[in-house]
Amino acid sequence: MNKKWVYFFSEVNQAEAYVGGSWDSVRGLLGGKGANLAEMTRIGVPVPPGFIVTTEACNAFLAAGNTFPEGMWDQMMASLAEVEKASGKKFGDATNPLLVSCRSGAKFSMPGMMDTVLNIGLNDATAEGMIKLTGNERFVNDSYRRLVMMFGAVVLGIRDEAFEEVLDSYKAAKGVKLDTDLNAADLKELIARFKDVVKKEKGFDFPQNPLEQIRLATEAVFHSWNGKRAFDYRRKAGIRDDLGTAVSIVTMVFGNMGWDSGTGVAFTRDPSTGEKKMYGEYLLNAQGEDVVAGIRNTEKIVEMAKSLPEAYKQFMDITAKLELHYHNMQDVEFTIERGRLWMLQTRDGKRTAAAEVKIAVDMVGEGLITKEQAVSRVTPEQVDALLHPQFDTATMAEAEKKGLLFAKGVNASPGAASGQVYFDADTAERMAKEHKQAVIMVRPFTKPDDVHGMLAAKGILTSEGGATSHAAVVARQFGVPCIVGASSIVIDLDKRIMTANGAILHEGEWISIDGATGKVFTGELKTSIPDLEEQKELLTLLNWADEMARLQVWANADYPKDARRARSFGAKGIGLCRTEHMFFEPVRLPTVQRMILAKTHEDREAALNELLPYQRSDFAGLFNAMDGYPVIIRLIDPPLHEFMPSAEELQEKIITSRIQGFAGYVLGKGEPADVADMEKKLKAVESLHESNPMMGLRGVRLSIYMPEIVEMQVRAIFEAACDETLKGVVVKPEVMIPLTGTVKELEWIQPRLVRIAKQVLEEKGVKELHYKFGTMIEIPRAAVTAGEIASVAEFFSFGTNDLTQMTFGYSRDDAERNFLIKYVEEGILEKNPFQTLDIGGVGKLMQMAVNDGRATRPSLEVGICGEHGGDPASIEFCHLIGNNYVSCSPFRVPVARLAAAHAALKHGKGLTQDL
Ligand code: ADP
Ligand code: MG
Ligand code: MG
Repeated sequence: MNKKWVYFFSEVNQAEAYVGGSWDSVRGLLGGKGANLAEMTRIGVPVPPGFIVTTEACNAFLAAGNTFPEGMWDQMMASLAEVEKASGKKFGDATNPLLVSCRSGAKFSMPGMMDTVLNIGLNDATAEGMIKLTGNERFVNDSYRRLVMMFGAVVLGIRDEAFEEVLDSYKAAKGVKLDTDLNAADLKELIARFKDVVKKEKGFDFPQNPLEQIRLATEAVFHSWNGKRAFDYRRKAGIRDDLGTAVSIVTMVFGNMGWDSGTGVAFTRDPSTGEKKMYGEYLLNAQGEDVVAGIRNTEKIVEMAKSLPEAYKQFMDITAKLELHYHNMQDVEFTIERGRLWMLQTRDGKRTAAAEVKIAVDMVGEGLITKEQAVSRVTPEQVDALLHPQFDTATMAEAEKKGLLFAKGVNASPGAASGQVYFDADTAERMAKEHKQAVIMVRPFTKPDDVHGMLAAKGILTSEGGATSHAAVVARQFGVPCIVGASSIVIDLDKRIMTANGAILHEGEWISIDGATGKVFTGELKTSIPDLEEQKELLTLLNWADEMARLQVWANADYPKDARRARSFGAKGIGLCRTEHMFFEPVRLPTVQRMILAKTHEDREAALNELLPYQRSDFAGLFNAMDGYPVIIRLIDPPLHEFMPSAEELQEKIITSRIQGFAGYVLGKGEPADVADMEKKLKAVESLHESNPMMGLRGVRLSIYMPEIVEMQVRAIFEAACDETLKGVVVKPEVMIPLTGTVKELEWIQPRLVRIAKQVLEEKGVKELHYKFGTMIEIPRAAVTAGEIASVAEFFSFGTNDLTQMTFGYSRDDAERNFLIKYVEEGILEKNPFQTLDIGGVGKLMQMAVNDGRATRPSLEVGICGEHGGDPASIEFCHLIGNNYVSCSPFRVPVARLAAAHAALKHGKGLTQDL
């Protein structure tokens, strides 16, 4: 039998059977738009009759060098005959003509990427016939001139402007502003002029044969899959190139038949905030594309309750039904023909991160979805976006007082952005990519071929268009802050300036836009971090995520204020406190240097005794902030030279000091005292010099070489722990020894440290304190010999930054500066291994270490404290190998909590041994 290339809207069951039942595959075959048109037909929503040519047909067409696969055209003709039967009209028949639209639709919606042609089937003869039939000459001429224009632009590839210029100059000559002001005779004249444009641009006449129109339009949709803008969009959205697009042929219904007709687009909830109220726009006496294009000023959808009450009520019922059916907020397109409502499209609506979270949480409350569905629906990127910098109200109020408010527009996509203004997509992209500028792209309105500039920009601003305009939709999808319809702004694209509120801004000057309020400021405003406590829905969602996750999320924090932030973001412990940061504080650094320079044990002890109280109070603050939760403190890790000034710096100072002191020397005052001091330092610095310090005297090696430092640190940790315990704080210190390569190192150092801990407990009279001693696993040898290491270490923490460096043999800084980008571009590495764990290599070592470690010590606690701890893909892997927790920067904690839940939902909560 012939392959089935064409499905009637009522044949969704057959499509489902063909692909094996999954809705995802039905969408793959029929495209998102087509699949949902068929689905709406199945559940009894009014959809005009039509059929879908499959994505398989598109791929076959493109593969065969642009020829329809065998049988496809015959099947289209057979389906067209079915549509004729259903509608009682005939395609190409002058007495009772059927008109159709030809619409594209890929598996994933690609807003404005592909082109739709309306009113196919009109020609001179059928137009005559329709005028007789409807008695509405204006409507028919309006439809016909739209066809010639759209067909010319989309199918024949003529520039839009060629038609727009004709239309604009005609309107100007007539002295009218709106398309609706044109009468039947005007439109008839425009048809003739548009046909002339076709003839002039293409050298042939506008095709009068309706079947020819369908054929060419179908080919054009197929072609558009490989167009540049579709291609660019797919790159950015991560959509595969081999999916192809489907074509839907849909019976035309007319929103331009008079003032009892109309068309609109709506979201069933507010796509910006998520609030449960219908959000959209409509136009009376207009055809579909008018609303999106922003040609006329649209009405708010609620107004329809007054202008078309019957249809409005039906519309509200149907959209409620669609939400119930799809369990999601819908983005719908509809047309009302003489009071009768038709649905032309539905899909899950694109929305901001805030809306995603609110809608998910609300829908759990409404019983539409489960908590698990809510948690899986929100992405880690969305959580991240909600905690991104914003302009706070005080900053904006101050800017307004200073007269920096430039304009106000529609708040289309939230977020704060400051950048330099550019007025076209190419320049915006170039300035962002080549000149690394923060860019705000400013346009009167945007079109699909502007997308590359919009995506390169930090923010988007348009002077025209509404909340569902192209700019708004694209910006929301990619989380780019955006303001549209800031109508007080006048953009002069020739002079490359914009003016508003009495101010002139030239291309390249700075502005700040606040996508949440729609305010535009001149200059660069300061940003601040949003508060999680205030984001109630996000808190709820993350608490659900914690219930579902097996992995805990801890944070890397060195100071009490970071620990408090981490805790407020939901961290259940500190996975890494780097103690050396504390040594760098200006009041402490001289003591640290004195300790390093000490010649005798006594001198060193004396300096360390000065440092001890500082460290004790550092740790006390941390324990206090993390009351009840474990705190892992890493003993000193970096090489000592990092605490000393560089040799060059010292040398220079010595010379300057000598020159300045020369006069005094001549007068017999002798060499300045500080010079001698600096000379001593310089000698020490030179003696500390190592040719590869990262692989030299640091970590546990330094502790063994010079144990006094870590002995002081351990004493400080336990004195603080005891003091806090005695105050009633629940303290769970875990002492982490860095850079272990062999168990012998731990066997040497750890018992000494444990002795100190016990001694302090005794001194302080504290009987019960839960503490652990453990190590970082960051040298491949440690991972490989983890079974031995676990005989001493009570916990492992993977330092995946160093482990990645040492496993690959790359120095991170050098790699990222020099060859890593090329490696990723060339596909030698799939991703930057410093951002996402290299599962095949580094991951294998980790998995081995966990298994061998737990074989020795079943209660071994395992975590990760490298930057990977905040990366969702790496978190998933940590879940799989049985980590107890991941530790990441405080700001990533919410993201990691969600990712941990996703991992558990995907793989189950149990431990998976075989990966
Ligand atoms: P896009 O993917 O750009 O939204 P669509 O295929 O949805 O393109 O069509 C563009 C506009 O034309 C929409 O507003 C849609 O509602 C309208 N439209 C498409 N087909 C028909 C039809 N058969 N009758 C009336 N309006 C239609
Ligand atoms: Mg559409
Ligand atoms: Mg390290």
